[in-house]
Amino acid sequence: MTYEIFDKDGKLRIPDAESWAKVKEEVKKAVTVTEVYCPRGHNLIEEDHTIGGGPGIRLGFRRPNGEPGELILSATLGCQDKTVISGKLFEGEKLELFCPVCMSNLPILSECHCEGGGEVRMLYLSRENNPYHAIAFCDVVGCRNSSIIRAGDVVRAARLGEW
Ligand SMILES: [Zn+2]
Ligand SMILES: [Zn+2]
Repeated sequence: MTYEIFDKDGKLRIPDAESWAKVKEEVKKAVTVTEVYCPRGHNLIEEDHTIGGGPGIRLGFRRPNGEPGELILSATLGCQDKTVISGKLFEGEKLELFCPVCMSNLPILSECHCEGGGEVRMLYLSRENNPYHAIAFCDVVGCRNSSIIRAGDVVRAARLGEW
């Protein structure tokens, strides 16, 4: 049985001591994505390369000087962990990011407004290519927005002028 974090009115339930472990498990599950797709529908979750104890997201990249590589991003929202499989990453460089299967570039959701001139790239959570059902991250290495967040949050923050 899973613990319901919110009651039916959407209020946070205060769990008793025994339920805390379950709550933590549920929260962790809620913020780790288990499928992400390129615009052409390839699932980029890589079971063979774990990161932070779970499968990561495999992406191809190209540095500004043209050097290619591949990396694994953490599939947990807000986690900055990355593993470089091939090539090299340099702090502050803006990367071209693409699907390692079909080489499609990841679509741009918005500008990041960071120093590196970053753009926020999207990965879809279903094959429907819906930007409201997507995750997003900045394409500049080391940008504070370079961990994945929900694309809907970027859209909302941008509307409020907070992005
Ligand atoms: Zn693809
Ligand atoms: Zn950025």
